[in-house]
Amino acid sequence: MVNNKIQAAEENLIHVYNRFPVVLDHGEGMYLYDTDGREYLDFAAGFAVTGLGYDNKELNETLKAQIDQLYHTSNLYYHKSCGEAARELNRVCGMDRVFFTNSGGEAVEGALKSARRYAYTKGTGRYEFIAMENSFHGRTFGAVSVTGHDSYREPFEPLVPGVKFAKFNDLDSVKALVSDKTCAIILEPLQGEGGINLATQEFMEGIRKICDENGILMICDEVQCGMGRTGSMFAWQGFGTRPDILTMAKAIGNGIPVGAFAMTEKVAKYSLKPGDHGATYGGNPLACTAVKKVIEIFERENIPGHVNEVAPYLTKKLDGLVDELDCVVQRKGKGLMQGIEITKPIAEVNRRCVEGGLLVIQAEGNVIRFVPPLIVEEKHIDEMIEKLKRALTG
Ligand SMILES: *Cc1c(COP(=O)(O)O)cnc(C)c1O
Repeated sequence: MVNNKIQAAEENLIHVYNRFPVVLDHGEGMYLYDTDGREYLDFAAGFAVTGLGYDNKELNETLKAQIDQLYHTSNLYYHKSCGEAARELNRVCGMDRVFFTNSGGEAVEGALKSARRYAYTKGTGRYEFIAMENSFHGRTFGAVSVTGHDSYREPFEPLVPGVKFAKFNDLDSVKALVSDKTCAIILEPLQGEGGINLATQEFMEGIRKICDENGILMICDEVQCGMGRTGSMFAWQGFGTRPDILTMAKAIGNGIPVGAFAMTEKVAKYSLKPGDHGATYGGNPLACTAVKKVIEIFERENIPGHVNEVAPYLTKKLDGLVDELDCVVQRKGKGLMQGIEITKPIAEVNRRCVEGGLLVIQAEGNVIRFVPPLIVEEKHIDEMIEKLKRALTG
């Protein structure tokens, strides 16, 4: 049965993903189950998406009720939750105005357009973007254009013009690229795909300062590192460096496809105007209900507080692996977005993890990434370490 399903997928889908030969069926809490009933401990969270884990009854019931009531309207009209979801998301992400998208790439796209639109209104002639090496911002043309990996970019060139790449955590390399044409600087406070690289406090403050002194907008891409993962609702809050534009997606809907870009009032005043941007599905009743409910549960259960409680245990255990195993070089990251750099072939180790019932994700630089649902407990970390050790030493 599993093989038939895989075969049908192989024959009918465009082959852009190298999937594991696993057909998932359902999930509960920290665990996923395949169609043969095999159990997988999930430290991938569907790419840092399912912060609340699987089968959260409260969220499920709320979504089901919304489906029965109404799930599409288009943006020609308001619906009951659009204003509330926007207000709640602005409150927790520290921005003033938000636009709902369907994905992270689309959120980045909107953020870049917003920055260009701001420059256009102001008549500054600024159009250049400074992005970071090793960054990842998504697969749409704009997002690929600011992604700092040749392999993602080259097959699709020519891309959006005016993008320059600086070295992450190297302020001088950013300063060297600043000109009177610089429109915005875009960065992930904690790089995900690029290998779990955390910005230094100095770097975040330095970028904020460069932007303030030169009339440049600071865009933080928190599609992956946002929504509680680093121990604050959004990672920028941990640095105290409020961006001008913020992108979000992945965990804000716990898997219901929803993203967002948000901005300060100062930017909104000069940025997108009616007719400049849109998304037919964007912020539909189901997506907004998901965002509203997810935020409500995050706050009531104090999920960021839980992340701060449990993350030191993950850190300690991963540091233990660095000490114990020669093939583990270093631990990186913050909160529940961490990684270990290993010397063994990563694809093989990843495959052995899956075979041993553990889901993790690869990242650049031979890094195994751990982005579990944020409801993870110490006992799950113990189980993960045990399974990981077997995959690393087997
Ligand atoms: C995943 C990701 C994106 C793209 O999100 P999609 O929903 O896959 O389009 C953008 N930026 C960052 C930092 C991401 O991790």
